[in-house]
Amino acid sequence: MSKASNAELPKSVDPYRLAEQNTVLEGVIPLSALARFRESVLGFDEGAACRVRLSFSMDSERRRIVSGELEAPVNLECQRCMGPMATTQNSRFVLGLVTSDEQAQQLPRELEPFLTDEFSADLWAMVEDELLLVLPPFPLHDRNECPAREDLEALEPDAAPAESGKENPFSVLADLKKTKH
Ligand SMILES: [Zn+2]
Repeated sequence: MSKASNAELPKSVDPYRLAEQNTVLEGVIPLSALARFRESVLGFDEGAACRVRLSFSMDSERRRIVSGELEAPVNLECQRCMGPMATTQNSRFVLGLVTSDEQAQQLPRELEPFLTDEFSADLWAMVEDELLLVLPPFPLHDRNECPAREDLEALEPDAAPAESGKENPFSVLADLKKTKH
């Protein structure tokens, strides 16, 4: 993601007009302003912000689309050692703007509905929803970095040490995710 804009993302916009004008918005949202998100994580550095890029457009059937990406530095609680772990959460999403549940049901499956008023959408709430979706339900340090690793190895004497050179399927997955961006 481009590091260009450190300005705050507008909070309230006219989403249908932005879609008609193919507008791209880029900016940041202070994490401290997102109350639901704040309650769902261990914490974050003072002044930490979610970096966001939202691209509004209309498809051939005049559906209003928002393609977005976000990146947020956040501390989660490792569920093995219960200690803090610094992470960066990333997400890409494609939303279809709708003004009613009926419209939401008519969206093609690849579009996630975002219910909004035609003339006013809360972009911060939109981004917060996406941030909450991407948080891992069971965060864990990398095995080699977890302070509880020695306890774990004592519990599993037969477990192969990480140095064995055997490819860990999860690290492959992590690499795939990295290259996607
Ligand atoms: Zn840990």
